[in-house]
Amino acid sequence: MQPLENTPTADAVGPRNFYSFTLENLEAYLKQYGKEKFRAQQIFKWVYEQRVTDFDQMLNLSKDLRAELKNLITFDLPPVLKHLISVDGTQKFLFDVRDGNSIEAVVIPSDDRLTLCVSSEIGCNMGCHFCFTGKQKLKRRLSTEEIVGQFMIVQDSLKKTNQKISNIVFMGMGEPLDNCEAVFGSIEVIHSPWGVNLSRKKITVSTSGLIPEMYRVADAKVRLAVSLNGYNDEVRSEVMPINKKYPLKDLLEECKRYYKATGERITMEYVLLKGITDQISHAKELVRLLKDVPCKINLIPFNEHPGSGFERPSDETVQAFHTEAMRLGAQVLLRRTMGRDIFAACGQLATKVKVDHPERMDISNSKIGGTNVRSFSRGQPSV
Ligand code: SAH
Ligand code: SF4
Repeated sequence: MQPLENTPTADAVGPRNFYSFTLENLEAYLKQYGKEKFRAQQIFKWVYEQRVTDFDQMLNLSKDLRAELKNLITFDLPPVLKHLISVDGTQKFLFDVRDGNSIEAVVIPSDDRLTLCVSSEIGCNMGCHFCFTGKQKLKRRLSTEEIVGQFMIVQDSLKKTNQKISNIVFMGMGEPLDNCEAVFGSIEVIHSPWGVNLSRKKITVSTSGLIPEMYRVADAKVRLAVSLNGYNDEVRSEVMPINKKYPLKDLLEECKRYYKATGERITMEYVLLKGITDQISHAKELVRLLKDVPCKINLIPFNEHPGSGFERPSDETVQAFHTEAMRLGAQVLLRRTMGRDIFAACGQLATKVKVDHPERMDISNSKIGGTNVRSFSRGQPSV
C-alpha cells in the first residue's frame, strides 16, 4: 500500500527541510558536503532545545559554515490557514499543504494532559463508512516534515500561553500504518533526546488494523490503539472494509503479539453507531470478543457529519452500553466529546480548503442523541 506520491521533498534537489531529518540522516547529509558529524547534533540542539531556526543565531557555528548551511537546509513549516478555539478549550489548526489541500491537527485539553492529535495522510483509502476522512480518497501521504511540522507549529503556539503538549496521538486524518516511513520517521524525531524528547509512552499510533505493519508499533515501543468498531466480523466488515482482508481473529492475535512484545495494553476504539453497534447485546459480544486481549476499551459515540447515513445513539443508550461493559468486567472509558463546535471531533476532519469551513458548519441543529452540542466522548485514549 506504500507507493503513491510520497514525501514531497525526499528526492528534491536544492535545500532540504530540517524537520525531515533524524540525527543520523542529518549527519549523513552534512557528510556529503564535507561537514563534521557533530555539527548535526549542534543544529538539533538549537532547533529543538532552543527553538532557534535562524542559522545566524547559531553562534557555535562559524560564519562561513552558517552561510553554507543556509543553502542546504530550510526550516519551512506548513502555513496555518486557520486556528480555531472551541468553547471547551479544544484547538484546531488547519494547515496548507499545497495543491488546495489542507490537513488538520487538534489539541485536546484534559485534567492532566494536553494531547495533540495529528494527521498522517490527506484523505484515506481505508474507506470506513462512518468516517468523514474515509469519504475523501487518499490524495497524498504526508512527509516526515509535515508531521513533525504539525507538532512544532502547535507547540510554538501553545508556548505563548505557557502550555506544552504532553501526548501525541496519530488519530487525525489518514491511516498511519499506510504511511509508515514518514510516521515512524516523525516518531523518531519526536521521542529522541536529540529531538523533541517526548516519552514513547506518550505517543499512540491508531490503526484500522493493517496487520502486516503492526509489528512496527511494537518495534518503535509506542502505544497501540486499534479502531475496532465492530463486535464480530460481520458487523466490522460492514463498517470497515479492511476487515474483509484482515479479519478479527488475526487482528486480535496481532494485538496479543504487541502486548507480549511491549507489556502495554492496547486501546480499543469502539464507535457507537445507533442501531448497529450500540445495543446491550453488542456490549456483551464485545466484552466476550476481547476477554483474553489485554486492552482497555474507549467508547466513542458517533460524531455526525452530513450525509454519513449513520446516527449517534442517545446519551441514555451510550450510558447503558458503558454500564453493561463495565458490569461485565471490561475496562471501558467514555469521554466527553471535545471540539464539536469547531468540527474537530473524531472523524470530522476534512482535507479540502474549499469544503473545510468548519466554523460555518451548523451542527447545533443536528439531533445529536436528543441533545445539542453537549455530550460524551471524543475517543481520546487514556494513555
Ligand atoms: N486511521 C486511524 C486513525 C484515524 S481515525 C484509525 O482508523 O484508527 C481515529 C478514530 O476516529 C478511529 O478510532 C475511528 O474509528 C474514529 N472515527 C472515525 N470517524 C468517526 C466519527 N464520525 N465519529 C466518531 N469516531 C470516528
Ligand atoms: Fe481511514 Fe481511520 Fe477514517 Fe478508517 S477511521 S477511513 S482508517 S481515517
